[in-house]
Amino acid sequence: MSSEFDLIEHYFKRPAPQTALGIGDDAALIQLTQGHQLAVSTDMLVAGTHFFADAPPYAIGWKALAVNLSDMAAMGAKPKWVTLALALPEANHGWLTEFSRGFFDCAAQFQVDLIGGDTTKGPLNICVQIMGEVPAQQALRRDGAQDGDEVWVSGPLGDAALALAAMQNRLQIAPADLALCRPALETPQPRVALGLALRGLATSAIDLSDGLLADLGHLLNASHRQATLYYPRIPISAVFDHYRQKNGIDQWLITSGDDYELCFTAPAHYHQQIAAIGQSLQLNLSAIGLVHAANPQNALITVYDHAHQIMPQMGAGYDHFA
Ligand code: ADP
Ligand code: MG
Repeated sequence: MSSEFDLIEHYFKRPAPQTALGIGDDAALIQLTQGHQLAVSTDMLVAGTHFFADAPPYAIGWKALAVNLSDMAAMGAKPKWVTLALALPEANHGWLTEFSRGFFDCAAQFQVDLIGGDTTKGPLNICVQIMGEVPAQQALRRDGAQDGDEVWVSGPLGDAALALAAMQNRLQIAPADLALCRPALETPQPRVALGLALRGLATSAIDLSDGLLADLGHLLNASHRQATLYYPRIPISAVFDHYRQKNGIDQWLITSGDDYELCFTAPAHYHQQIAAIGQSLQLNLSAIGLVHAANPQNALITVYDHAHQIMPQMGAGYDHFA
């Protein structure tokens, strides 16, 4: 392949049916649907921080897009367009073939068009910007939680943390069990259909990238509320349950990131309707707690255990600069 332009043409130019003008000009052109707002978000993935540089390139491509789709899901937006800025140490064609295959498998599943980007030489770094549409005033924001709302999560939580710990040799786990939880870490499924179904029902939403305590904390701060959670109601997989009993890794459920599930609040009278959405989407939706008015005497989030005792503070999730 002779140039950067050939590389873009070969690996990244695909039909963009939802786009007025896609890759190849100085800028892409998109036609917005009337009465809708544009939801825009960016996520950067840095080798060594967000993924292992030697991770399977298919998984890197999938996840680079999936984490951005997760932000659209959390807004209740329909994802439509993405741009991809790539710094590559070299034009490694085996790597690019697999990376683009993972990226476009995810793009096809969630019907987004890649409409532009930038390609430069440098330490491996992947920056995706995503754009979606949401009918005006219907976005799921972080600041809408109300007193008495139920707190919900889609699940299971914890599998990505389990896989990461196993791959970093912090935890011994059987190969068959790693095979079960590794997809949660490498090829997460963004909850786009759930986000769309929650428009008009959820009062607030956020996606879980930094851990339940940290992300729900952001939502509660934005809403000026506090919450009570019931730890036993947090949905987990059979694999997580197995290792949890053996290894005392309970806190990972609420402090570890990378789940890319949705956490949202909704009035209790929508409980059955939301449970039905969970069934139709085949998602493990669980009501895990309640929102209440902020009281400066109390913690932002109080977690109760199986015996209805308050669990000790378990840390606050992942913070790049802490
Ligand atoms: P310019 O010099 O005007 O920035 P580029 O040479 O960077 O143009 O890019 C040429 C075209 O290819 C543009 O339409 C740009 O959006 C697109 N492009 C560049 N890199 C990527 C990429 N990694 N993925 C998708 N599109 C890309
Ligand atoms: Mg450029």
